[in-house]
Amino acid sequence: MLSETIPPPKCLLEPYVVPHRHLFGPGPSNVPPRILKAGAQPMLGHLHAETVEIMNHIKSGIQYAFQTQNNMTLAVSGPGHAAMECAIFNSVEPGESILIVVNGIWGERASEMAERIGARVNTVVAAPGGHVTNKEIEQALVKCKPVVLFLCHGESSTGVVHPVDGIGDLCHRHNCLFLVDSVASMAGAPLHMDKQEIDILYTGSQKVLNAPPGTAPISFSERACQKIFNRKTKPVSYFLDMSWLANYWGCDGKVRMYHHTGPVSGFFGLREALAILAETGLENSWKQHRDVAEYFHQGLEAMGLRLFVEDKKCRLPTVTTIVAPPGYDWKEITAYIMKTHQIEISGGLGPSAGMVLRVGLMGCNATKANVDMILAALRDALKHCHKSRV
Ligand code: PMP
Repeated sequence: MLSETIPPPKCLLEPYVVPHRHLFGPGPSNVPPRILKAGAQPMLGHLHAETVEIMNHIKSGIQYAFQTQNNMTLAVSGPGHAAMECAIFNSVEPGESILIVVNGIWGERASEMAERIGARVNTVVAAPGGHVTNKEIEQALVKCKPVVLFLCHGESSTGVVHPVDGIGDLCHRHNCLFLVDSVASMAGAPLHMDKQEIDILYTGSQKVLNAPPGTAPISFSERACQKIFNRKTKPVSYFLDMSWLANYWGCDGKVRMYHHTGPVSGFFGLREALAILAETGLENSWKQHRDVAEYFHQGLEAMGLRLFVEDKKCRLPTVTTIVAPPGYDWKEITAYIMKTHQIEISGGLGPSAGMVLRVGLMGCNATKANVDMILAALRDALKHCHKSRV
């Protein structure tokens, strides 16, 4: 008989108590008790009638959050990156041209994903903290003749909310699909999939929606479906193949078949998060994030701190970027605030690395009381952290 030679790990024989922490970084944000409770309900089979009903409710909730009537609307089993790859892998074939607006790290990552599937990648690059104009986009559309244009609406690395109006129309006039990342902005800044002619839109569960990470809402327009379901080649990913996912989510009118085991508890949480959004109202949610961000920005400027995004209209309400206070080591500030105040804020990422502090106030975290708490923690950190004499 085989006997074990590796003993049970000691660390697993003690309970682990997770601390309470204020998650005011760019995500995940805190999960309110109501959503935690929903996720703790008994397990169901991933194709049981009740699970299917919950998935249908999620589909309606996403249609509301995205302001779309698209039938091809579902949640990918995975984080925001899974939705990014689902969008790109299904809509672009090897050798096809894609145009990517790079206004921070998410455009950079989208470029790498497209490159990995053998697409011809073209970029229009904005300076960190800035954005590109519709004219620049149109010139690039004419030059590169892409099948898809990628744009990150809420750039969480730079704190920019990129203007969207008019771009969908430009794309369609140039025979191109309009793909938008709204992981950091969905329900926190106005976006209207149908009216703004967005063909593919995705988000994550763990930001404004306040659900645990691991499910990623996505939707495809009729025009996008025409392209993705008439491909010459199969998408490189079996797991993210929209023909399968459309069936799993009951979007193809056929009997649902087993493709993969969905994150059932994650679906319970996502349904609850979308229910809270439906009760709150999308416009109220946009206003809440805008008001709280304005209050925060005024408080920061009153303290003598500078905002990284100069153009007020382009400041992302959900994630604020603050110019790293001169003379300080930003890492010391974030570490001090975490240790002394149990508050997570973070440094820059990608093009903003070393340049900024990032503070996310999303969903239930977007309150003026939390702003006051962060401002007090920042004041305390600036007093206690080392300021160099240079
Ligand atoms: N896009 C944006 C704008 C994001 O902010 C993030 C998460 N920070 C992602 C994509 C990727 O999401 P995830 O970490 O859930 O994979």
